[in-house]
Amino acid sequence: MSQTRKWHSIRWRIVLIYFLLVFIVMAVVGVFILGQLRDYQMASVRSNFTKIVQENILSGMAYEDLSANRESLQADTEAWAQSLREELFVVDGDFRILASSNRNFVDRNALDVLEQGVLLRGFAGEIAEEDSVLSSGIPVKTIAFPIRSGGETVGLFCLRADISNVYDTLENALNIIVRALLLALLLTTVLSAVIARSITEPINSVTETAESMAGGDFSQELHIQSDDEIGRLAQMFNLLRGELDKTISDINNEKSKLKTILENMVDGLVAIDPDGRIIHANPALRRMLALEPEEPENASYQELIGCLDPVLSYEVLQEGCANGGGQEILEKDGSIFAVRYDRFRDEAGRDAGIILLLEDITERQKLAKMQKDFVANVSHELKTPLTTIKSYTETLLDGAVEDKETALHFLGIVDSEADRMNRLVKDLLQLSRLDHQQEQLHMTDCNLSLLLKNTVMKMEVLAKAKEQHMICIFDEQRRLYALIDKDRIEQVLINVLSNAVKYTQEGGRIDVDLYPQGKEAKILVIDNGIGIDAEELPRVFERFYRVDKARSREMGGTGLGLAIAKHIVEEHKGSIEMESQKGKGTKVIITLPLAPDRAVPGIE
Ligand code: ADP
Repeated sequence: MSQTRKWHSIRWRIVLIYFLLVFIVMAVVGVFILGQLRDYQMASVRSNFTKIVQENILSGMAYEDLSANRESLQADTEAWAQSLREELFVVDGDFRILASSNRNFVDRNALDVLEQGVLLRGFAGEIAEEDSVLSSGIPVKTIAFPIRSGGETVGLFCLRADISNVYDTLENALNIIVRALLLALLLTTVLSAVIARSITEPINSVTETAESMAGGDFSQELHIQSDDEIGRLAQMFNLLRGELDKTISDINNEKSKLKTILENMVDGLVAIDPDGRIIHANPALRRMLALEPEEPENASYQELIGCLDPVLSYEVLQEGCANGGGQEILEKDGSIFAVRYDRFRDEAGRDAGIILLLEDITERQKLAKMQKDFVANVSHELKTPLTTIKSYTETLLDGAVEDKETALHFLGIVDSEADRMNRLVKDLLQLSRLDHQQEQLHMTDCNLSLLLKNTVMKMEVLAKAKEQHMICIFDEQRRLYALIDKDRIEQVLINVLSNAVKYTQEGGRIDVDLYPQGKEAKILVIDNGIGIDAEELPRVFERFYRVDKARSREMGGTGLGLAIAKHIVEEHKGSIEMESQKGKGTKVIITLPLAPDRAVPGIE
């Protein structure tokens, strides 16, 4: 504690107040006592002399003319002085000293020897007195008694008494009072320091606890047991501490909850204060906008984010907020974001800044586009056979039905178009079931060599029709087991093999291979057909994507075969890839996980 603080403390103030209080009281009492004592002493001196002078001296002084009796007056005065032991003077009406206990003063002007005021008041007819100090330093009291004759004041009998003993008594009394005062002040100081300590000590511990609370430590409890105001203050303080501790821990919990939410939310969020500075920008936002630095708090929003795109500019946000918030679409680096923003307010309803949310809607937009394309594709795929069917049936109805040969030809076309629609609807249904995971996989341990061999055998009929050579180049005896839905994988194989047949010219060659690689089985279907352009290759697994639409349709393709195959293989935790060279041929690689170690190998 600094010196100034120490002297400003309540403790020292209490000591000072007590000190001053006692000092003032004692001083006033002292002055009063001394005054009273002095008055008492003086009064007793006065009454003492008055009584003696009036009874013993003035009563016997019956001179009409004082000057005429100077000699006897002088003798009397000296005799009285013997008994009174004070200086005595007899003064006539001309202020001349007629007689005195001290002969040196005789005949001198009384105004030079005695106090002028006393003499004047004495001649006015009253007993007058006055205190003074002689040039020798002795304090004296002069009392003048008028000497009357025939109702007239003819002279004064003056007595000058040495009152040093009165002052000595007063000085002694003053000494006693001063000593008492000093003792009282000492006791007061000690006692008030002790009392003040008993008051300030608990206040200090409250202050210390408050200080540690301000530093964030709420663990300290006050231990003041007294039943007075300070005790109650401590009680209330402890209650307050508990409440504050709880409230702060609640706030901290909320804060950390909010922080976790902000840190982990998928949408980007930035809060801006009314001065346009960033209060918080969550990691999602920093990622979405590829922001530097990592901790953008306190940076200017316009400089860090607003400048990235006019849509995000701080002015646009302010304008939008003035109209009750807004939303925009932002396209950046191939991603599409939905931007929403609005003002947020503090508890008092004052404007506290702007919150901006950034939602990555790229996938949603892509999906919406895919859905739109899908519907357009399906409509288109259905429209073509429907138009054909409609035009042939109209021709038949218009009379062609009469010509049996033409009618049969037309009906054949209608039939094949209906078949195409049927295939399309079947493929679509299957895709829809796969999409919605309605198709339950019936997994069995299956020998892939056998499955592949049997499927190749089924497809050989098609290949032979085009005079193609479909050859299994793997060891058919080698058993490779995988946990698969046999029918679905067979469908995949059929789709891939039929594509190989479809897109390979007559007399072409199709090699089918199977081998294990690590924990996986690789199925290869290699043809030397028309191949696919490198540009088109990545899109062949898309729904309805066909390199050559007319050719595919002519071959009875729906454009869904590879999409279905990919879906099924991926559901088996495998993959399907395609390598191709335009005009040279295509290689389809299907990878499937091998079954974990079997107890009884090779059983089909
Ligand atoms: P489709 O029913 O048209 O065959 P797919 O989904 O099975 O549909 O195949 C998509 C497209 O990929 C086909 O239209 C074709 O252009 C191309 N394609 C598929 N397999 C081969 C292949 N082995 N050789 C050349 N092109 C192929």
